Amino acid sequence: MTNIAFIGLGHMGGPMAANLVKAGHTVTGFDVAPPALEAARTNGVVVAATGPDAAAGADVVITMLLSGQQVLDVYRGGLLAAAKPGTLFIDSSTIDVDSARAARELAISAGHRGMDAPVSGGVVGAEAGTLTFMVGADEADFAAAEPLLSIMGGRVVHCGGSGAGQAAKICNNMILGISMIAVSEAFVLGEKLGLSNQALFDVSSTASGQCWALTTNCPVPGPVPASPANREYQPGFAGALMAKDLGLALAALESTGTDGRLGTMAADIYRHFADEGGAGLDFSGIINAIRERSAD
Ligand code: NAD
Repeated sequence: MTNIAFIGLGHMGGPMAANLVKAGHTVTGFDVAPPALEAARTNGVVVAATGPDAAAGADVVITMLLSGQQVLDVYRGGLLAAAKPGTLFIDSSTIDVDSARAARELAISAGHRGMDAPVSGGVVGAEAGTLTFMVGADEADFAAAEPLLSIMGGRVVHCGGSGAGQAAKICNNMILGISMIAVSEAFVLGEKLGLSNQALFDVSSTASGQCWALTTNCPVPGPVPASPANREYQPGFAGALMAKDLGLALAALESTGTDGRLGTMAADIYRHFADEGGAGLDFSGIINAIRERSAD
């Protein structure tokens, strides 16, 4: 049994912490939002008054927050100081690579261990314990964390050293954002050419246009009954989160001097989508924005 501090008990952190409790670990949690704390309490999480209170006495501290700045702020704001020497700090938030590396450096400087372990799989995966973890860590820290991550996830991939987990997450979601736009443009073009959505799906789902955005998260209702398009684009993976992740990709493209014209365009397209009503919709709702802009 491991003593785990869990900081950030929101849509993702709440069910992740609950799965650790179910597996028999002692989880002490903190969130600045009282409703998140209350929900965690009903799932067996021991509720702490502050983040540092949760971290004191923990063997492992997991953070599931929104931004790199939030992670660095809570690390500096007492978490690192309160933890006992050698505590393993795992950050599972989706943040930029530089902040991930800075967070680990702060942990090391304070006498601890640190790693980035962002996830994909959404709230459904967090509840089911089937997330994919992308881990940036040295070998020993990865080996120590893997049993815990395997409780919350179905797949745990060691991507490389510090920051490599965030790099994998950012690159994967750039592929996803671009491919969803490509699939959506193709459906709208097909409609304008008189092609039925089902016919395009039947061809492309088994031909060279095949991809996850088409075969699993199909942006038109019908061909894939479980896709968000069949329930008025309720997420799923929200447009706001795709816009956030593509913002991280854009910053990384710029800072590395990568020729990422499609990634840059995708970031711009999803930022507008999120700003213009799509923030709370599944990101496949981008097809409706494309259809509106394509109206005669
Ligand atoms: P969320 O907003 O539901 O949860 C974040 C929680 O952190 C909130 O409950 C908030 O109150 C809490 N918080 C903020 N500042 C805090 C502080 N200083 N101390 C303690 N708690 C604090 O967001 P989420 O959907 O759970 O996402 C968390 C992370 O996971 C994000 O980085 C997101 O990009 C990533 N992610 C989300 C999904 C998804 O489908 N929701 C999928 C993959 C990755």
